[in-house]
Amino acid sequence: MIMKKILMIATGGTIASGYTKAGLTPRIGAQELLGFVEEHRKFCTVDMVQPFSLDSTNIYAVHWLELAALIRENYEQYDGFVICHGTDTMAFTAASLSYLIQNSRKPIVITGSQKPINLPVTDARTNLLDSLRFASHPRAHGVNIVFGGNVIAGTRAKKERSKSYNAFSSINYPAVAVILDGRIVFYIDDKDRLEGETRFYQELNERVLLLKLVPGMDGTVLNRLFPYYDCVVIEAFGVGGFPEYGQDPFFHEIRRWTDAGKTVMLATQVTHEGSDMEIYQVGKVIKENFNLLEAYDMTLEAAVTKAMWILGQTKDPESVRRLFYTTINHDILLTPA
Ligand code: ASP
Repeated sequence: MIMKKILMIATGGTIASGYTKAGLTPRIGAQELLGFVEEHRKFCTVDMVQPFSLDSTNIYAVHWLELAALIRENYEQYDGFVICHGTDTMAFTAASLSYLIQNSRKPIVITGSQKPINLPVTDARTNLLDSLRFASHPRAHGVNIVFGGNVIAGTRAKKERSKSYNAFSSINYPAVAVILDGRIVFYIDDKDRLEGETRFYQELNERVLLLKLVPGMDGTVLNRLFPYYDCVVIEAFGVGGFPEYGQDPFFHEIRRWTDAGKTVMLATQVTHEGSDMEIYQVGKVIKENFNLLEAYDMTLEAAVTKAMWILGQTKDPESVRRLFYTTINHDILLTPA
């Protein structure tokens, strides 16, 4: 067997946490983490780096750019990358890295666990070993989460359970692969169909707001937020129902945002099956009256980080639209008719 060369990037999270009086916090270093999965020596050699050690609650765009830069700098020296990360914002990190590193022939795996790696009963050792195994597989490529025996495209993951081992689901898309007793079974084996060069990006625009509607919400809230954001992603009801109340402050505000060249995107608060604003009058009217983007089958994590990636490059509405509806790492299947 050819030994693969993997770079493990430890960033903190429960997997590396220990108990303190102040609560669980990251304190297990990269070397110690790797020591819990000695079996990896059968198929790979691992170098380690620890750019930061954080509860993922505190991870955001600055860290995503740092991770992408770290992988870019080490890209030629390694066959694959495994990032150990907290689960709470892992889906955002996986989606953002899917946009920052595109068309990678090498696997970039993100993993973590619900229990610290040094407990007698934990999911951490299996998840880390599975991740190293997947990152060493010749058919693996691109950005994926490996967790609970599933390999999930980086743009399709959502943390749906706060405590169970199967914390992550693949939303509106099948798992790329499953890992059972150390054996990888691919459901989507598309490495040969990859087109275009591997591309790294270095800009994100964090001025993206995610606004969840609640019944009766006053649309003027958008006026107050207007100065601070370049894009608002609105979580509407059902397949894309958008309220029309009284004097229609929402309509008025959306006009203000789009007239100013800001991006307004409609998504659904329903996790599964996506939006289709043209089904009901309450969605169709707004879709016909404004130049909006619609998230369709995308996850909210992917919709938000894709907007950050696009607006880091351009604010031209036509370019924004074209990039938004370009499928990247399996993120969107349904696009406007
Ligand atoms: N709060 C932790 C984190 O996201 C939770 C975890 O890793 O499971 O870092």
